[in-house]
Order: sequence, then structure tokens, then C-alpha cells
Amino acid sequence: MELTQSGNNVLLPQIIESEAGYLVGGEFGGDAVEVSRSESGLICNCFIAQVSEGECEHVRAVREFIASIPMSQDRPMLSQADADYYLSKLGKLDGALAANVQSGSEQIDRIKLWLEMEDSKIQRKKDYYILALDNWMHLTGESTKQLVNGILKVRAQQPEIIIDDETTVLRDSRFKRTIPEKQVIDKTALRKHVVGTGEEIEGIKVMIKPHKFSYKITHHEKEEPNNGNS
Ligand SMILES: [Zn+2]
Repeated sequence: MELTQSGNNVLLPQIIESEAGYLVGGEFGGDAVEVSRSESGLICNCFIAQVSEGECEHVRAVREFIASIPMSQDRPMLSQADADYYLSKLGKLDGALAANVQSGSEQIDRIKLWLEMEDSKIQRKKDYYILALDNWMHLTGESTKQLVNGILKVRAQQPEIIIDDETTVLRDSRFKRTIPEKQVIDKTALRKHVVGTGEEIEGIKVMIKPHKFSYKITHHEKEEPNNGNS
């Protein structure tokens, strides 16, 4: 494989390396395939690899890639055109993800509706039996009844008290108690002080976080129908 920095994005960069493995670009801009790294070697999950003991064009391409540039610091730099191409790939993957979520949630809605309907049918039948057994327990006057198929129990319940008007109830000192003032950490002040002065405050740990990468895809009108199809 030719590895130059002049951005010919059909040939380059076909392989992206990460700690997990390699992403091998598809031919003519098709879907990229992941080849992961494992103790037993390179693993591709494509169809060809499955029927030929792990040998496929993707694994071969990665081997060639590793052989051609053994030191990771010598790996080629991305050109701006390549970066833009990667961003377009990211946009397509986001589209696929959104389509999956959409399709998944439609299926979930259907399943939920089915479950609700089946549920209410079964629940209504259960209610008949429950009513009959409840009445029967009242007639026996017992609070517990052991039967062959299980145990029935009837228990009187404490009344539930709902407070409609808190102020009115609080005016009666019999039903009032004071909760001591609660002390909480002023996190904003703490962060400002620690970041600003670098002082080591007892009782806290400061975790340095890596920078955050983000991206935003520009949606081009032409690509919309394409996204809808896949
Ligand atoms: Zn493969």
C-alpha cells in the first residue's frame, strides 16, 4: 500500500489504528471493517474470515500495514482532506445509529402496546378470583387460611394520612419538630479556589481530566435521501 501524505483519500488512509485494533477502510468508500487485536492474533468478524479460519482481505491489509511501518511514530499524518473524509464517515455512522434508535424505539412501542393489552386481559381475570377469595375470607372471619395451593391472608391496614395544608398543621405545636440546620459543601466556591490557587485542600482529591474532543456534522441536502434508505 502506498503511504504518502498527499491526500488521495481513495487510497489513503485506509487503516486507522487504536489500542483495540484497526479499522480497515472499505473499497470505494464502502463500510469500514474492524480488525481487533487479541492474544491469539488479529481477529476479523467478516464472513470470509469466518469461513476461512480467520484469513481475509482485512487481516491481510492490517498485516501489510504493520509490516510496512513498524514504528508507531512513523505512521503517516492525516491530511486535512483525510480528516474531512473521516468526519463524513463519522456523520454516516451517526446517521446509522439514529436510524437504529428510531427503528428500535418503534419496535419497543409495539411490544409495549402488546404487553399492556395482554397484561390488562390477564389482570381482569385475576381480579375475579381475587374478589371471590377476599369475600370468602370475610365470611370465614379468619385472618389467615392455609390451603393446598397456598395461603390467604387478610390484614387490616393503618389509615393513610395526607397533608393538604402544611402551614395549618404546623400552627399546632403538638405536630411540629425542628430539624437542625444542615451544612453542605459549596462546590462552586471549592472548585474556584482549587483551580485558581492550586492549594491542596485537606479532605479532597483533585482528578485531572483529559481534554474533551467533540465534533458537529454539517448536513448536506443531497445526502439526506441516502441516509433515509440505509
Ligand atoms: Zn475480514
